[in-house]
Amino acid sequence: MSTATIIDGRKFSATLRGRIAEEVTRLKNDHNLTPGLAVVLVGEDPASQVYVRSKGKQTLEAGMNSYEHKMSAETTQEELLAKVEELNNDPAVHGILVQLPVPDHIDDHAIINAIDPNKDVDGFHVINSGRLATGARGASAPMVPCTPLGSIMLLKDHLGDLSGKTAVVVGRSNIVGKPMAQLLLQESCTVTIAHSRTKDLADVVRQADIVVAAVGRPEMVKGDWIKPGATVIDVGINRIEVDGKNKLVGDVATAEAMEHAGAITPVPGGVGPMTIACLLANTLTAASRQNGLKEPNLL
Ligand code: NAP
Repeated sequence: MSTATIIDGRKFSATLRGRIAEEVTRLKNDHNLTPGLAVVLVGEDPASQVYVRSKGKQTLEAGMNSYEHKMSAETTQEELLAKVEELNNDPAVHGILVQLPVPDHIDDHAIINAIDPNKDVDGFHVINSGRLATGARGASAPMVPCTPLGSIMLLKDHLGDLSGKTAVVVGRSNIVGKPMAQLLLQESCTVTIAHSRTKDLADVVRQADIVVAAVGRPEMVKGDWIKPGATVIDVGINRIEVDGKNKLVGDVATAEAMEHAGAITPVPGGVGPMTIACLLANTLTAASRQNGLKEPNLL
């Protein structure tokens, strides 16, 4: 019998996007300011094209300006750096995102770190990682990576105060695992980061009041790894084939985990929809900061 509460990321993200749209209207009316997000896509990766289209659509729906820059797969690193520089200098652009992955001949670190940190709405620039790690606030507060930001919002909404809870993050990527661990630490959780070399992973996960799975392995985290009543955030998005049909599954074996967890995010419909909503939130925050305006409180 499944007992876990489903944490509805679709519903939460729709509410968040509604609040963002209200704030955008307020910025337009009170300050004649329309936040602008520029998305750069290099090459024709089909999944990236879908993501970029979806980002552009939701940006416009929130009342912001959306600028799409499509560049060929043969674009050189210098050409891409020149595009980033052009966007850094464009006052109508408050947020810049270069869709990853970029083609192999381009060094993604060089591109990310060429973005003005204050326009880095993905939050991947080393300055933003450093600001997050040091708990910087006020004028030097970080842009926080969107997927971990969405995940921590869901956790706080569901659990309230996270302080003192034991959290295990499975995965240590720069875009999900590490920033997620920083955010949990900031909320005064006791945080463990697990990865492919972790020994006795099931036992490590069993200690957690909060489990965040960001691995990229379909249904790897099993039901009996989950401490009774724990809250499970499944970041994974994996396409698998079942009976000849494509199916989207997370990194957690959801049906099994629901027998043990107190609450769990589904895939799809959990963390996924939060990512673009948080991208819009970051663009709004960036536009406000760049114009010396008070940051909107979206929660
Ligand atoms: P990634 O860069 O490939 O990192 C995967 C992490 O998982 C690595 O740290 C790796 O450890 C660890 N790992 C791999 N196999 C493991 C194992 N058997 N046991 C324990 N740890 C293991 O992936 P990512 O970019 O963080 O993404 C993770 C997942 O989240 C993917 O499914 C991705 O599609 C999804 N995702 C979703 C969103 C969203 O919007 N919802 C956004 C981003 C990513 P090592 O470091 O030791 O190799």
